[in-house]
Amino acid sequence: AEKVSKQEHLYKVLVIGEFGVGKTSIIRRYTEGSFSPNYKLTIGVDFALKTLEWDETTKVNLQLWDIAGHERFGHMTRVYYKYAPATFDTVAKWLSDINSKVMLADQSPVPVMLLANKCDLEESYVDSLRLEKYCQEHGLIGWFPTSAKNDSNIDNAMKCLVKTFIISD
Ligand code: GDP
Ligand code: MG
Repeated sequence: AEKVSKQEHLYKVLVIGEFGVGKTSIIRRYTEGSFSPNYKLTIGVDFALKTLEWDETTKVNLQLWDIAGHERFGHMTRVYYKYAPATFDTVAKWLSDINSKVMLADQSPVPVMLLANKCDLEESYVDSLRLEKYCQEHGLIGWFPTSAKNDSNIDNAMKCLVKTFIISD
């Protein structure tokens, strides 16, 4: 039998955002398929791996970098995490942070996708039109309402991200 050699890609994904929004939980859900309601600080930087058999000829290795945001200031109580903090206003800050530190080899900005996590919470509210417009205006790939708890949209968001990587490779 003939052996088809697969094309293999390695991509790095940086998961950034405010403290407590669910970065570690999203990575854990995506790579291990599990969720824990207990908050644990992420110390420094941690990374997890995920391999996708993208299609017959393509294998994708993802390195998901879990960045500890401002977690050294982690003195808030767990109760805080039951509520979806209004963190949209901090997106601009994270975006300029990433763009000031990282760029692609051709000096263009890195592809960015926005996740509105904890969409399972009753009090979570996202203004879809506003997010859509924001993504267009700032050149983001797009956005997804996600829940690490209920496993909603995380695979979809990652698929969309990987598709962008593959197309621009
Ligand atoms: P990080 O600081 O951004 O890494 O946030 P964590 O992943 O540590 O999550 C902070 C807290 O929010 C933890 O108690 C998680 O269990 C909780 N959490 C994370 N994602 C979700 C989610 O989608 N839904 C709900 N209800 N809670 C979540
Ligand atoms: Mg974390």
